[in-house]
Amino acid sequence: MAKKVSEKTEKKSAESTAKKEKAVASKADANKPVSTDEVPDVSIETEERTATDELTVEQRLTNLYKLQTILSEIDKIKILRGDLPLEVQDLEDEVAGLQTRIQNYQLDSKELDTAIGQQRIKITDSTALVNKYKEQLDNVRNNREFDSLSKEIEFQTLEVELAEKRIREFTADSKAVADEIAKSKTLLEERQSDLKSKKKELNEVISETKIQEEQLREKAKNLETTIEPRLLAAFKRIRKNARNGLAVVYIQRDACGGCFNKIPPQRQLDIKLRKKTIVCEHCGRILIDPQLAGVE
Ligand SMILES: [Zn+2]
Repeated sequence: MAKKVSEKTEKKSAESTAKKEKAVASKADANKPVSTDEVPDVSIETEERTATDELTVEQRLTNLYKLQTILSEIDKIKILRGDLPLEVQDLEDEVAGLQTRIQNYQLDSKELDTAIGQQRIKITDSTALVNKYKEQLDNVRNNREFDSLSKEIEFQTLEVELAEKRIREFTADSKAVADEIAKSKTLLEERQSDLKSKKKELNEVISETKIQEEQLREKAKNLETTIEPRLLAAFKRIRKNARNGLAVVYIQRDACGGCFNKIPPQRQLDIKLRKKTIVCEHCGRILIDPQLAGVE
């Protein structure tokens, strides 16, 4: 696009050679980062002759306002997308977390099952011993043997009771773990479903707005070539610093539509005349009259 502009500039008569050079230099300046000491004075009066010179101040302001509208649309698209990727990421993290939690619970559950199995074996073994000792009791030869067997029976009986107690505890733990697994699985299903729809939404937003954004960027690019480089640079700088991204605002109730400070009547009149680019003395935004913005 810059090429087109400079070609057009070259077609101008030789008498404007010096002016042309100035314009080219100013175009180059526009591509550089703008330092703060270049902040425009209260009014940006453009004396330089450029390819956009055929345009009146009114046309320039109109184009600038149009450009801002397009750029604001692009901002909206970004905001719209800005949330969704984060939401999808959060859900993905949550789903992964729940899956790990379920896996851990399932391991706990397996361990408890194994422990219960071990206690059951203990019960079987001890019961077998108790039965064996009871049979031997019928054939004891002396008191010492009787006492010894009785003690063994008592010990193995306690072992069985202890194992039964442990089985009850492990079973309770196992049930709690099973409850947690069930809860987590329900939550996981919910989150997976949320994730699926959010992903779908994001993909839709991306595919929908991709074309829209490209079209807007193309429009913005074309409009930018119709705006005098110095003015465009000032516009971009103001827009960057403005919280709402608005560099061109219209008068609202005798005040600046950006910072809402009152504008003196004479200044309002100058703005309505559309002969000069006038900026707000308070916030530096470019001021236009509501009619130019298409607002009554
Ligand atoms: Zn202002």
